[in-house]
Amino acid sequence: MTKQPLAPGRVLIIGSGIGGLAAGIILSKLHCRVTVVEKNPLPGGLMRGYERSGIECPTGVHYMGALDEGQPLRRLWDYLGVTPLIPLERMGMEGIIDRYVFDDFVFDLPSGMDAFEASLRRSFPEEQVQIKSIMADLRDIARTLSSLDMVLSPTTTALSYVNFESMGQRLLRIGCSQKLCTVLAVPATLIGVPLQECPAFYYYMTLASYLMSSWRLAGSSARMAEAFLSRFKSLDGDVITGDGVESIRVESGQVQGVVLKSGRILEASTLIAAIHPKMAAAMLPAGAIRPSYAQRVAQIVNTKGLFGVHVAVNADTHPALPYNIYRLYPEADGSLPRGVFHQLRPSGQTGVNLLSLITTSGVEEWRPWAGTRSGRRGSDYGAAKEKKARHVISEASRIFGPLTDGKILDSYTPLTIRDWVASPDGSPYGILRSAGQLMQAASLNRTSIRGLYLAGQNRLCPGIMGTILGSFQAVMQIIGHEQFARGVAGEFL
Ligand SMILES: Cc1cc2nc3c(=O)[nH]c(=O)nc-3n(C[C@H](O)[C@H](O)[C@H](O)COP(=O)(O)OP(=O)(O)OC[C@H]3O[C@@H](n4cnc5c(N)ncnc54)[C@H](O)[C@@H]3O)c2cc1C
Repeated sequence: MTKQPLAPGRVLIIGSGIGGLAAGIILSKLHCRVTVVEKNPLPGGLMRGYERSGIECPTGVHYMGALDEGQPLRRLWDYLGVTPLIPLERMGMEGIIDRYVFDDFVFDLPSGMDAFEASLRRSFPEEQVQIKSIMADLRDIARTLSSLDMVLSPTTTALSYVNFESMGQRLLRIGCSQKLCTVLAVPATLIGVPLQECPAFYYYMTLASYLMSSWRLAGSSARMAEAFLSRFKSLDGDVITGDGVESIRVESGQVQGVVLKSGRILEASTLIAAIHPKMAAAMLPAGAIRPSYAQRVAQIVNTKGLFGVHVAVNADTHPALPYNIYRLYPEADGSLPRGVFHQLRPSGQTGVNLLSLITTSGVEEWRPWAGTRSGRRGSDYGAAKEKKARHVISEASRIFGPLTDGKILDSYTPLTIRDWVASPDGSPYGILRSAGQLMQAASLNRTSIRGLYLAGQNRLCPGIMGTILGSFQAVMQIIGHEQFARGVAGEFL
C-alpha cells in the first residue's frame, strides 16, 4: 500500500520573513518542494537588521519571550531546527526585563509570574482583589499557551478565551485604578494594540510569554535571518530573491502559480502569501475573490506606524543595560497614545554602545513624502527625520544623561517599513488585532480560492511567537487537522 503524502507536493511562498520561512521549513520537513519568493535582495524581512557605519541596527527583533527549554516558542524553534543556530542572551537575570518610566513613578517588570505578582501587589497595595483576578487569568492563559494546543489543535478549548471583551474593559469592570491600568497598558503596545481595544486573550498571551523568560539576540540579527534561511535550504528549500511576485494566477477558482516582476512564471497549485492580505488581494485577477472578501480586506484597520532611531553612544558614559526602558506619557483616561521604547546594548564595536529608540508615528505624519520611494525622498524628508530624531534623543537624555556625543546612525519612518516589506501604510505589526475586528481579521484566512493560504504576522498575531504560530496554523489548514496532528504537532505537543 502506498503511503498517503502528508502535504501537497509543490508549494510557493510569497515573502521570506519569519512567517514565510517558518512555513517553508515545516512543509519541507513534510517532504514538500518549497520555493520562497522574496522581492528584496536579502531574505529575512523584518527579522533582518541593517548595517550603518559598521554597526548592525536591529529592525523587527528587539526581544522575545518563552525561549527557555520546554517553553512554547523554544519548542517550536526546536521543531523547526533553528535553536542552536541563534545566539541569545537572557534578560531579567539582574532583576528586571523592562522599566516603565512615567512622569511621577517607575514600575519595573521582573522576570517570572510570581515576581510580577509580588511587584504589582507592592506597587498597588489597595488593589489586592483586582490583582488576584488579573493573575488568575494570566496564569490560566500561560498554561494554555504552554500547552500550545490552543491554536494548533482542532479540539482546542481556546475559543472560550477569544472573547470580544477588551483588556481595557475587563480592567475597568473589575475596578482597577487608572494608574494600574496605565502600567498594564504597556504589554499591549508590544503587538501594537491600545489596551482599550486589545482582546484579553492576546494581551495575556503576549505578557505571559515575556514573563516566562525574555531574550534578546546576542550579536547580529542577521544571524537569526540566516538561521531560518540555512535551515530551510538544508531541507532542500529554494529561495528566489530580488524578484517580487507581481500577480497570482488563478483559473476556475484554483491557484495556478505566480508571475514575478521579471516576467518569470512559477507554477504551483498551493500558494502561501506570507505578506499582508491587502497586498495579496491586489495580486489576484479581477473578480477572483468574492466582493465581500475584497470589502473586508479594504476595510481592515492596521496597527499604527513607528519611528525609530539608532544612535551610537560612548560605552563608558552610557554602559549597556540588561533591560529595556519604556518612557510613557499617559492621557488623563489612562490610555497610552505616546511612549518611547529604549534599548541600550553593545554595538559590536569596542567602546561604542547602540541606543535604539522607537516611538509611534502614524503614516499621516509623513504624508508629504507618501508618493516617494525609499532613497529618493529628498533632503526635506531627511531634515524632517533628523528633527524628529533629535527630539526623541533629547527626551531620552532625561533618562540616560546628556547624549550630545551620540552619533545618529539611522532613522526610519512608516514609509521605510512600507517600502521595505510592503506593509500597507508602513504598519509594523500588520492588521490591528483589536476586539472590534477580531472576527473580521480571522475570516481573511479563508480566501475562497482553492490553494491560496495566508501566513505571516497577519494570520494570527504579530511578533515572533505570534507569526510562527500563524505559520503552523497555515500548514494545519493546508494538510488538515488529522495529518497535522500526526505529522507535525505530535513532535511538540
Ligand atoms: C520596528 C519593529 C520592531 C519590532 N520588534 C519586535 C520585537 O522586539 N519582538 C517581536 O517579537 N516582534 C517585533 N516586531 C514584530 C515582528 O518583527 C513581526 O511580527 C514579524 O517579523 C513579521 O514577520 P512576517 O514574516 O509576517 O513579515 P515580514 O518580516 O514583513 O516579511 C514579509 C516579507 O515579504 C516580502 N514581500 C512583500 N511583498 C512581496 C512580494 N510581492 N513578492 C515577494 N516578497 C514580498 C517582504 O519584502 C518581506 O521580506 C517588530 C516589528 C517592527 C516593525
